[in-house]
Amino acid sequence: MHTRRDFIQKLTGSLIALQISPALVTAGCNNIIVPYDGPLLRVAIIGLGSYGTRVAEAMKDCKKAKLVGVISGTPSKIKDWQAKYNIPEKNCYNYENFDQLKNNPDIDVVYVITPNALHKDQVIRVAKAGKHVISEKPMSINAKDGQEMIDACKKAHVKLLVGYRMHFEPKTLEIIRMRKVGELGKVLFFQGLCGFTIGDPTQWRLNKQLSGGGSMMDIGIYAINGARYMIGEDPIWVTAQETKNNPEKFKEGVDETIQFQFGFPGGAVASCLSTYSMNNLDRFFLNGEKGYAELYPSTGYGPIQGRTSKGELTQPHVTHQTVQMDEMAGIILEGKQPVVPVDGEEALKDLKIIDAIYEAVKTGKKVDLKL
Ligand code: NAD
Repeated sequence: MHTRRDFIQKLTGSLIALQISPALVTAGCNNIIVPYDGPLLRVAIIGLGSYGTRVAEAMKDCKKAKLVGVISGTPSKIKDWQAKYNIPEKNCYNYENFDQLKNNPDIDVVYVITPNALHKDQVIRVAKAGKHVISEKPMSINAKDGQEMIDACKKAHVKLLVGYRMHFEPKTLEIIRMRKVGELGKVLFFQGLCGFTIGDPTQWRLNKQLSGGGSMMDIGIYAINGARYMIGEDPIWVTAQETKNNPEKFKEGVDETIQFQFGFPGGAVASCLSTYSMNNLDRFFLNGEKGYAELYPSTGYGPIQGRTSKGELTQPHVTHQTVQMDEMAGIILEGKQPVVPVDGEEALKDLKIIDAIYEAVKTGKKVDLKL
């Protein structure tokens, strides 16, 4: 597949071959792509697993972000990635020596894409090395750890962002726009259904030490976060109920299915489901006094599909991680403000809600939230 960058490189190459300045040619013509010559975010990835690979592939098409480094405990993976993404030896680290990033002026940010429970220590070490950090979701496995990560990044004067790719997704942003300008009227109800049937019982996602929990940490967080950006408020209370049909597979502390409900200050309510035992659950529904919006699928890798009371949503599909990384480059390098925040404070709110959901499951009581 030819990328936009390939095209630009070829175009620029041809112009150079003809000894014509690209600037002169583009100045006089319409519809010629002007090569991007702004600042480039130089990214290293820690955790070269399945999602790390997806991000690396998506970054090939980024305009403002470039994969330049790797951190991994597996030397053979480092070699593979070096060959595939043209990564120099001096930008390769392992889990023991990556504090040495502090002596590397060629890396701006480290993207942490390891199992959930490892994010905290790795983010703090990266911050101490003086580099900006992007953490995958969930930012950590509880709010206390999340707060420590925020504090460490503040102290080191580096930015902390979290991989909330849906915050840049065009159909999602269109619904948020409609809600903001009042096209849906007063919003009264949100439903978020998030789940899939998880396979291999030995994977880290089903190991509490590494995952910090079960489906809620992994997929339920999309319904939590989605309820907040769809309604445009933070919840003030939560109730929750757990169902466990397979205690062999979903051991103590690893939730299989949780239903949860939120109340919002403006009077809206939300009803959500998080599960590791059902497929076809990837749906958001927002209802207001003047109209509704539905996304189904709502948070998968796409294409996201949806409709509102005004008709089908037709915004084009984008590769989420490509747009996310270009937008994050804008946030880190140019101080750009996203429509929906993707910083540590935003992620901390989700962690506080997860803590409260687990508490509500345990006590059976309604838990008040102060976010
Ligand atoms: P994965 O198992 O495919 O990859 C995890 C990587 O971490 C592997 O390379 C593994 O070698 C490495 N690792 C380092 N220490 C490890 C340890 N002690 N135990 C196990 N692995 C260890 O997992 P993944 O699906 O890539 O998920 C990684 C993170 O990315 C998770 O936090 C997950 O929630 C997040 N994620 C986000 C999205 C998204 O859409 N934003 C999608 C998938 C995963």
